Amino acid sequence: MSAEIISGTAIAKEIREELKYRVLEMRSDGAVPGLATVLVGANPASQLYVGMKNKAAKEIGIHSRQIDLPQDVPEEELLGIVEGLNADPEIHGILVQLPLPDHIDEDRVLLAIDPAKDVDGFHPRNVGALSIGRRDVMTPCTPTGVIEMLMRTGNAPRGKHAVIVGRSNIVGKPMAALLLRKGEDGDATVSIAHSRTPDMGAITRQADILIVAVGIAGLVTADMVKPGAVVIDVGINRVDAPDTERGYRVVGDVDFEGVKEVASAITPVPGGVGPMTIALLLKNTVDSAGRLAPDRNRGAM
Ligand code: NAD
Repeated sequence: MSAEIISGTAIAKEIREELKYRVLEMRSDGAVPGLATVLVGANPASQLYVGMKNKAAKEIGIHSRQIDLPQDVPEEELLGIVEGLNADPEIHGILVQLPLPDHIDEDRVLLAIDPAKDVDGFHPRNVGALSIGRRDVMTPCTPTGVIEMLMRTGNAPRGKHAVIVGRSNIVGKPMAALLLRKGEDGDATVSIAHSRTPDMGAITRQADILIVAVGIAGLVTADMVKPGAVVIDVGINRVDAPDTERGYRVVGDVDFEGVKEVASAITPVPGGVGPMTIALLLKNTVDSAGRLAPDRNRGAM
């Protein structure tokens, strides 16, 4: 039997609609959520991502400000800009697009962002708060988007064995912390497999929920998946496709065609986790605006 295809595109649209309504309410109370994106240099992928984030923010009524800086901007100048945004009452979310040029210490910049405005959820204070199970913190957009997908498709992780493949700081580790939090959207038994895990299939076959975030096309094949598992593919990979106009195709880490015959539900790539990441960035910004002006936080999700 073929798996249910979980459309991240549709779920992300639903979330954006909900947020649009919340922003309308906030605006009618005189509060406009504000997102600042900082882009250093002219990396085409980064330009594309920042452009998509700003467009999505504007579409739901968030005030968005894009700050473009030259590739050779001194670190001190960038830190000064972050300080200015920290103090700016019109800005509730600050996103510094990574990667930064080599002469800039990325950790120093991320540490400079006010944790209350850290909509990426990468500040060590937010990482620590998540790891002790706190709920009143900003959590990273991609793994939080995965939780939303599970919850909105009737696949709550409570009591399930969730296996994560990949242990990065932006996906794998926060994914584990979210799944371990107490509550219906957590309470999972969590295993993490990674590049040093021998016989990965023996681990992944135990998964009721299998989340793959590695960056290797087709890494997870049908024989590595328990029949009936829910499979979430975070990977984004380009593979050559000379027959297409662009010359490449975008695929995930999961062999979609094979695994969909074994799983009960699966996310496609593209159209799966990707759109959720931006939706959660918008949600973090609106939540932050609500927290920073609590008397205006009506209709919170
Ligand atoms: P990363 O390179 O930081 O981490 C990859 C992880 O995979 C590492 O922890 C490593 O231990 C593990 N790994 C490497 N080879 C492995 C193997 N053979 N078997 C098992 N594990 C192995 O990558 P990341 O930033 O976590 O991103 C992972 C993938 O997810 C990439 O394809 C990235 O493009 C994609 N991604 C997508 C979104 C989205 O919005 N959909 C967001 C972030 C990342």
